[in-house]
Amino acid sequence: MSSAFTHGFVALSFGKLFFPERMPARFWVLSLICTLLPDVDVIGFFLGVRYGDKLGHRGFSHSLLFALLIAVLVTIAAFPAVRRFSKQWWALTGYFFLLTASHSVLDAMTNGGYGIAFFSPFSSTRFFLPWRPLEVAPIGVRGFFSRWGWDVLMSEALYIWLPVTLLLVIVYRVRGKTFIPGP
Ligand SMILES: [Zn+2]
Repeated sequence: MSSAFTHGFVALSFGKLFFPERMPARFWVLSLICTLLPDVDVIGFFLGVRYGDKLGHRGFSHSLLFALLIAVLVTIAAFPAVRRFSKQWWALTGYFFLLTASHSVLDAMTNGGYGIAFFSPFSSTRFFLPWRPLEVAPIGVRGFFSRWGWDVLMSEALYIWLPVTLLLVIVYRVRGKTFIPGP
């Protein structure tokens, strides 16, 4: 994984980009959950599932199909008032899909671990993006408060936080709102 902070940051930024209007609290909570959910597969480590297995880390729960299933489920369960297959329904589903998949894309930009099984369960081939500037994050909290954790944060700040913040500023300028409240 990349660090939980960065997945969370992506969730908040995407939420603001796609839905600039006021959204209910559950929208934000679910946005956060979606970006972190693919890593539920680390539970497998404790159950004896091996990293390279279908249900191993960066396996099915990091696939595009998983992201789509979660997106549909979240939209139906959390926004029952939105008419199925209406424009707003697709917007929400597409958004939650992008968020869940963003987790795997970020993972595919890390320099360690196994690749991502994007097309699981149809193919168990593991992929990385051709560009992998992100330092892979340690699993667990202890490893995080170390030199390694620092390197992870620095690489994510440079390659994720900075460009995403710039994108937000530009989009808000174009929309005619200031992103940072003025005096
Ligand atoms: Zn992951």
